[in-house]
Amino acid sequence: MLPGDGIGAEVMPHVLRVLEATHVDKLDIEFNEGDIGGVAIDRHGVPLPEVTLDEARASDAVLLGSVGGPTWDHLPMDQRPEKGLLGLRHGLDCFANLRPATTFPALVHASSLKQELVENLDILIVRELTGGIYFGEPRGEETIDGVRRAFNTDVYDETEVRRIAKVAFDLARTRQGRVCSVDKANVLEVTALWRNIVEEVHADFRDVELSHMYVDNAGMQLVRQPRQFDVIVTGNMFGDILSDVAAMLTGSLGMLPSGSLNADSVGIYEPVHGSAPDIAGSGVANPLATILSGAMMCRYSLGAPEVAAQIERAVGRALSQGFRTQDIAPRSSHREVRLVGTESMANAVITAMRPAYDLW
Ligand code: NAD
Repeated sequence: MLPGDGIGAEVMPHVLRVLEATHVDKLDIEFNEGDIGGVAIDRHGVPLPEVTLDEARASDAVLLGSVGGPTWDHLPMDQRPEKGLLGLRHGLDCFANLRPATTFPALVHASSLKQELVENLDILIVRELTGGIYFGEPRGEETIDGVRRAFNTDVYDETEVRRIAKVAFDLARTRQGRVCSVDKANVLEVTALWRNIVEEVHADFRDVELSHMYVDNAGMQLVRQPRQFDVIVTGNMFGDILSDVAAMLTGSLGMLPSGSLNADSVGIYEPVHGSAPDIAGSGVANPLATILSGAMMCRYSLGAPEVAAQIERAVGRALSQGFRTQDIAPRSSHREVRLVGTESMANAVITAMRPAYDLW
């Protein structure tokens, strides 16, 4: 457990309370706490101390809050809190970034799309996280004959594509059994190879339905008819963009969980949002993104999908009962809405997890 900075540290104790309150006996998690980000810079001089990385490597999963804040903004880029996140992902070789886009019935109106398009939305975007154009070499800027130019390299080898495709197919088997691989195979050789390798891996997953889509069309389809997707698998840059588009289908930053897995299903689970310095310390942060990240951790790394479902159901119930943190509260006053802070929202989730509720 790496609470980090700002609202990450504020929310984490409440997330722990939720995890501990699950009434499924199978879940027996032992938590160790470590430092990452700004708090690690203050205590150890670096954003990712060796001891934190060692603890993470020895764990089945990492639950992370958020890092960063104005206190550390003056530091050089490579010493900033955010470097700790990159180091952790790299250190655990977490190459598969999972970004679900699901809507809770009580929040469908928060989407920028029409309600009928986003009702019952349940998409999982699987983004390759450690390769592609963000890391490819050569990269740089140069001046030739007085003209400045800059360049990056989009490169994947077949082992990188194979392992992310396998993750996507495996996950599809636990869902609706459909994978859409997104590329630009009509223009970019690197994604033509991507498409071929995904096809090859599919030979071992014939029970899963595979389709391919060009990224421009995928962007359009995500806002035209998002429910057509189950699992989307794509490279680093396309995944970066599409996962943010999909996130907005569901409404609010304070609701978005994520996970990043390595080949052994060890994962780093964290909310998509940052440390929110503007509200940190005031007890109003929405804990649901981190609570839902905890649910993902149970599903994907701890082998406890029933606990994950229990937590997700409880979040849905708390929302249906009208509990809202300020970031997801409707702008006009609403009689059914109960505006609450971090602690009360977590309490509402815990109450909604009581066994009696399962009789509903
Ligand atoms: P942010 O996500 O922290 O905040 C953006 C806006 O959304 C703010 O107005 C904030 O109050 C609101 N918000 C975010 N999460 C919320 C929640 N759970 N409940 C209620 N409101 C919420 O992004 P930012 O302001 O661009 O960045 C702030 C700091 O966080 C920076 O130092 C940045 O580098 C860091 N950051 C860290 C991560 C991470 O740890 N993974 C991700 C993004 C940004």
